[in-house]
Amino acid sequence: KILASIITIGDELLIGQTIDTNSAWIAQQLNAIGIWVHRRVAVGDTREAILHALDEEGAAASLVLITGGLGPTADDITKPVLCDYFGGTLVQDDDALQNVLRIFEGRGLPTLQRNLDQALVPDVCTVIPNKRGTAPGMWFEQNGRIYIAMPGVPYEMEGMMLDYILPRLPEIFDAPSVLHHTLLTSGMGESFVAERIADFEKALPPAIKLAYLPGFGLLKLRLTALGKDKLTTAVTLAQQFTLLKSLLTDITVADEDISMGEVLGRLLTARGKTVGTAESCTGGYIAHLLTLVPGSSSYYKGSLVTYANDMKQRLLHVPPTALNTQGAVSEATVLAMAKGALEQLQTDYVIAVSGIMGPDGGTPDKPVGTVWVAVGDAQQQTAIRYQLRYDRKHNIELTAAYAINELRKF
Ligand code: ATP
Ligand code: MG
Repeated sequence: KILASIITIGDELLIGQTIDTNSAWIAQQLNAIGIWVHRRVAVGDTREAILHALDEEGAAASLVLITGGLGPTADDITKPVLCDYFGGTLVQDDDALQNVLRIFEGRGLPTLQRNLDQALVPDVCTVIPNKRGTAPGMWFEQNGRIYIAMPGVPYEMEGMMLDYILPRLPEIFDAPSVLHHTLLTSGMGESFVAERIADFEKALPPAIKLAYLPGFGLLKLRLTALGKDKLTTAVTLAQQFTLLKSLLTDITVADEDISMGEVLGRLLTARGKTVGTAESCTGGYIAHLLTLVPGSSSYYKGSLVTYANDMKQRLLHVPPTALNTQGAVSEATVLAMAKGALEQLQTDYVIAVSGIMGPDGGTPDKPVGTVWVAVGDAQQQTAIRYQLRYDRKHNIELTAAYAINELRKF
């Protein structure tokens, strides 16, 4: 196995102000080319911490990927520390300098000395161009190990990885092929699924692993195959995937790892139909999930976010009787919202939601987490009640996922 370590640098990571998405993203990319990440370490912006991490990770891995602390401010100390560690001196790199000047000219801003200093690099590294920012990356080799330092800004780091680093790694490490194939299911809990496919799981060849990944209203089943020869690996994986799928046809949603919004989008595109949303408790989150999908403009028309009761009345024509007798979170209201939205938005299908997301606002007969979802078309609308039991943020996410899934099933 080829082992890699990821070091992320920045005090903001340690206090939880920034969530370390860099190492997750890097790990996914490395995994896809057969390089095994055995450790991810986050350290603060101090010389001692960085040096210690370099020693530890260098001793354990043949590839060490580092992000953060390459910027022009005083808290960014990664570059001089790396320079000392690998025994070099800082020299100006002409291409990096041109890049800094180009970026500042493009922005119409004066270039400060601290920006020009971005073009200084240790003379013992290979410079990695940064097309998306000013700080160049650095590629060091020592004792047969590779150390690569990249900026902390995710967009810049990703560009560097995709353009320069990832294309070079497979050849250097002669890594085995790792292939994944994911089946998306819905409507059956993971233990019941495990029960049904127990024989399949037992009979899996040793080079293939099965993972259960439960999500909101979804269960992903991921098959991973590892092998020296890419074609043989792909064939074995395809065979097992077909077998798995045949055992779960009744609960299969998609045979690749896509979002619920994408699943619904494909369905609507195939039918040539449109959808609109009427959202109360999700405040537009369903609209957000649907519009995250590229090409959604061909089937998604819009949302009426009617948070207050008078908005439900004025924009969706929800009758006051529904709101007064049954309340804003009720079957009558959510069905009226669905009908109102079909009329106002002129779509083939509709999703409407109203619920109590918490932490306050519950009553004995409608506790926090009570949600009504309605889906349908002009002929027929159906409503369903959910009782969620998370905090506000997760209740909103779950409501949106369930609501989209309800229309998928409709
Ligand atoms: P630049 O030269 O562009 O300033 P940098 O190497 O100095 O880059 P940092 O100053 O450490 O990078 O971080 C820049 C931004 O990237 C900050 O907003 C920070 O929160 C974010 N960031 C840093 N590390 C990570 C990480 N591991 N995951 C996600 N975001 C990160
Ligand atoms: Mg920093």
